[in-house]
Amino acid sequence: MDTLPKTMTFSCLVKKGQCEIRKRPIPVLKDYDVLIKMKACNICTVDYQQFMGLREHQGYPMAGGHEGCGEIIALGDKVKDFKIGDMVALGYQGCGHCPACRSGHPSSCETFRSESEDGYKFGEFGFADYTVKSIDSLFKLNPNLDPSEAAFTEPLSTVLNGMKKLHVKPFETVVVIGAGPMGLLNALVARAYGARVIVSELLDPKLETARKMGFIVIDSKAEDPVKRVKEITDGEGADAVIGAVANTKAYDQGVQMLKDRYGRFLVFAAGYPEPELNISANDIHYKEMEIYGTYGGTNDDFEDAVKALSTGMINVSALVEAKYPLKDMQKAYQAAVDGNYRISIVFDEK
Ligand SMILES: [Zn+2]
Ligand SMILES: [Zn+2]
Repeated sequence: MDTLPKTMTFSCLVKKGQCEIRKRPIPVLKDYDVLIKMKACNICTVDYQQFMGLREHQGYPMAGGHEGCGEIIALGDKVKDFKIGDMVALGYQGCGHCPACRSGHPSSCETFRSESEDGYKFGEFGFADYTVKSIDSLFKLNPNLDPSEAAFTEPLSTVLNGMKKLHVKPFETVVVIGAGPMGLLNALVARAYGARVIVSELLDPKLETARKMGFIVIDSKAEDPVKRVKEITDGEGADAVIGAVANTKAYDQGVQMLKDRYGRFLVFAAGYPEPELNISANDIHYKEMEIYGTYGGTNDDFEDAVKALSTGMINVSALVEAKYPLKDMQKAYQAAVDGNYRISIVFDEK
């Protein structure tokens, strides 16, 4: 491209229930920065729950959008390992120098999701036609992937981070509670690890999607999921349970459906208001339970997520519910609130 754009058009949330499309100058590229022409950015819970007013501690104006991908169209002076035309997934922008960044965990860096110089909270600027990122936060992707599916690199990395901690083995039984996008992403990965996967959910459209994807499903409004899991496992219980919906009742059920010894439970989701986790300390002791938490993905998890998507080993097409252009962002937020799966903002059709 001979003439590079000078301004970027982006969406930000200015208050509960309201977003605006704004323009700002494209920041000057530092040595290791690249300019990205965005292809797609999906609306995460972090974004649409701010739209709903459930996460206002995140602040306004908020220029989020972290589940994204795009094409590199300009390089900073010292960039060698990326070239113009590369398709990249957005990772986490940390400082690059602190212990968290140096150990591959930029999501724990103090600068991650910090305010931009011009005052935007969560200054990730993924919902933008052009965005500037440092190469240490980017991951190369197969250019033939559908952009809205490629935008699953970040959420998939968070799932891989948790799954590695759960050390799932082939032929184990893993229950995922919640068949939203993150629940089904967990279910897909558990299946790729060789487990028998049961998905528990109460909403009919989500049950239907889980069923179509070939999982064993439990309709938790029609039957007791704890009893059902015990039946399916001949009385034993699940080897591992992933709580992918942040709800006290769901977490209670998850702990109860574990097998009697060495059961593993993963707290995957955050909830606002915060759910409780009722586990007996003596049960943890006598039953030798393992309780894990997970948040974000490490750089290794991003690399694995890219492989899983780029090779087609994980297919997320069923998790893209609808695509909207940036100009319809307000409608897209509402669709994300009302919908079941990811709403994707796409940039090729203007
Ligand atoms: Zn996300
Ligand atoms: Zn850092």
